[in-house]
Amino acid sequence: MTTTTTINKAELKSLIGPGKIFFKDDPDFDSASFLSFGTDRTKVYRPDFEILAFPTNTEEVAKIVKYAYNNDLAIVPSGGRTGYAGGAVAKEKELVLSLSKMDKVLDFDPFFGSIKVQAGMITKNLHKEAEERGFYFPVDFASTGSSHIGGNIATNAGGVRVVHYGLIRQWVLGLTVVTGTGEILEFNGELLKNNTGYDLKHLFIGSEGTLGVITEATLKLTVKPVDNRVLLVSVPDFPSILSLFKETHQVKVPLLAFEFFTQYCLGKVKAHLGVPDPFSVPSPYYVLMEFEIGNESEDEKLFGFLESITEKGLISDGSLAQNSRQAETFWKYREGISESISIEYTVHKNDISLPLRNMEPFLKEMESLLNGKYPGFEIALFGHVGDGNLHLNIVKPKDLSDEEFFKKCKSVDPDMFSLLQKYNGSISAEHGIGLLKKDFLRFSRSELEILLMKEIKKSMDPKNIMNPGKVFG
Ligand SMILES: Cc1cc2nc3c(=O)[nH]c(=O)nc-3n(C[C@H](O)[C@H](O)[C@H](O)COP(=O)(O)OP(=O)(O)OC[C@H]3O[C@@H](n4cnc5c(N)ncnc54)[C@H](O)[C@@H]3O)c2cc1C
Repeated sequence: MTTTTTINKAELKSLIGPGKIFFKDDPDFDSASFLSFGTDRTKVYRPDFEILAFPTNTEEVAKIVKYAYNNDLAIVPSGGRTGYAGGAVAKEKELVLSLSKMDKVLDFDPFFGSIKVQAGMITKNLHKEAEERGFYFPVDFASTGSSHIGGNIATNAGGVRVVHYGLIRQWVLGLTVVTGTGEILEFNGELLKNNTGYDLKHLFIGSEGTLGVITEATLKLTVKPVDNRVLLVSVPDFPSILSLFKETHQVKVPLLAFEFFTQYCLGKVKAHLGVPDPFSVPSPYYVLMEFEIGNESEDEKLFGFLESITEKGLISDGSLAQNSRQAETFWKYREGISESISIEYTVHKNDISLPLRNMEPFLKEMESLLNGKYPGFEIALFGHVGDGNLHLNIVKPKDLSDEEFFKKCKSVDPDMFSLLQKYNGSISAEHGIGLLKKDFLRFSRSELEILLMKEIKKSMDPKNIMNPGKVFG
């Protein structure tokens, strides 16, 4: 790969017009804000790059990628930098291509209910744009105030309502992408049905910037739930959480979210956000459920559900939010966890998934593994349990250096991932592989699968300039 010192600055700067390509020694940015475009939330890697580009449309992206292709320059696509896998980290003098200036609505179809946007649109802004047009975009989670729709697609983001609406993959109708050779490809337009061979857009969904740059997306919209109810319950043990989920299938009211967290997580959120205890008696586990309510009879069904799970001894206490403010507070208990823990502590994150029916035996074995390997370490366990997705965060003890801590975690990871393999799980449910998990891909993918992935990458990115070193070694 070319080092940035051999690049002709004036030539590169004039490529897409003034004020769009910057070098590290330009006076336009201080060093910290410059470097922030080549990093994410992992806190594990130090960014090191010298060129930062802000194209404003697909053609400009294509020009930059073609230039990089011709000059053997690696590119890191940079979205909202909220990723947890190190995918947007530029630490090898790559060119950082930020999509931040590509945030426009390009088209809207009120007949079918779809919207076409540039990939750098912030996810929350897409929610707003959909609502202003009388629609709803359901992919939502705690970082959507910063994440980009392109970053969401590149990571196949999940979130808090996957149990009802699915992952973002389900909402992508069409994509415009720029491949590693600088070619512009348009996949599928706005069609829902198009059975004409391989649906190549799916390769880019979850590709973490390794195949090319997603520049535009056409997304399916839906209608907003008429009303919803948020139910928070305290639960005595983990098996009861699973039984509770089973019971939700019988309520006959649409379940929008089913999330859980432990008392440890609640303690961190309380300390960080200053929110009150939800119940008078603490409990090892809490479950937050959100239901869509269409009419009064559904409210009745929910009261019946609460009564029945209490009688069955599945919950210790429970409260149905009385108004939207209380519902917001309930959500804060869950959505505040990541920030509360990562702002104050160094954390080794594991975002794993496994079949729900295997979760209990997995967690039992996991507990003894963690007690053996991490004696005295604090563990924050929470997640989208209705999707089979656990966030298992190991918190660094104060007396260990970051280096010692991450070394220790990396040495224990293979044991955890072998256990996941045994229970047919995945080492990354929704955060992706990036740099953080690339050494462990083999625990979730066979050798042949990895080989095929590499062949696909070669066909889209023959010079390996698109986010090299991410996903595979
Ligand atoms: C508090 C918090 C809560 C979170 N909760 C969830 C959750 O519930 N569910 C979930 O799935 N994730 C969650 N995340 C993780 C993160 O927000 C998602 O992975 C998100 O989709 C990343 O989007 P981004 O724009 O920030 O991408 P970035 O972090 O900027 O990039 C992620 C990857 O995508 C690539 N990329 C970015 N834009 C493009 C593009 N236009 N074209 C090609 N490649 C691109 C990057 O190179 C990188 O590999 C959470 C993060 C935080 C901080």
